[in-house]
Amino acid sequence: MLVLDESAMQETRRGLILITTGPGKGKTTAAMGTALRAVGNGMRVLMLQFLKGSWHYGELDAVEAFGGNWVMKQMGRGFVKIGGAETDPVDIRMVDAAWDEARAAILSGEWDMVVLDEINYAISYGMLDPERVAETLRAKPEMVHVILTGRNAHPSLVELADTVTEMREVKHAYQKGILAQRGIEY
Ligand code: ATP
Ligand code: MG
Repeated sequence: MLVLDESAMQETRRGLILITTGPGKGKTTAAMGTALRAVGNGMRVLMLQFLKGSWHYGELDAVEAFGGNWVMKQMGRGFVKIGGAETDPVDIRMVDAAWDEARAAILSGEWDMVVLDEINYAISYGMLDPERVAETLRAKPEMVHVILTGRNAHPSLVELADTVTEMREVKHAYQKGILAQRGIEY
């Protein structure tokens, strides 16, 4: 139980940069939990999913219940072929477009929270320059919260963030040969 002084909280309200990273499961779902909390506080949330696209996730239908207060968009193809010259230019263009939309959304001030789901993968695969992201995060409107998810968060973004959580894998059902389950993975 927390005892909070609401008048003090109002004065200290500010936008934060959060990162969920690491090899354990729960990065995207943690971001969605935070988004749910924000929407419940009357805030407007935009969640852009980098790289995701081919799978239909349950959350896409669930967030429709929140109308324009919580919008979730898949910006990729759901798979990426990576590795130097092997990286498909189509995927790079999709990441570029996703980033343009993310940047505009953050800077517009129209959204109280912007979730950049799996953006850390796009950066670590060399598809997006972390300096472009850092530049926008430094210029973001004061009150906007931004959440970045995905393994291997770039050190410069970790440095810039206020709250960084690393998911540690203790065990995962996949290791027993159990494939992705409805309601748990999608
Ligand atoms: P979730 O979306 O469940 O919160 P996540 O965002 O932490 O997971 P991602 O790296 O985005 O994880 O990977 C997404 C998918 O990979 C999920 O279906 C998840 O169950 C699976 N996954 C995550 N961690 C592991 C792991 N350590 N071993 C095997 N599969 C994993
Ligand atoms: Mg994820």
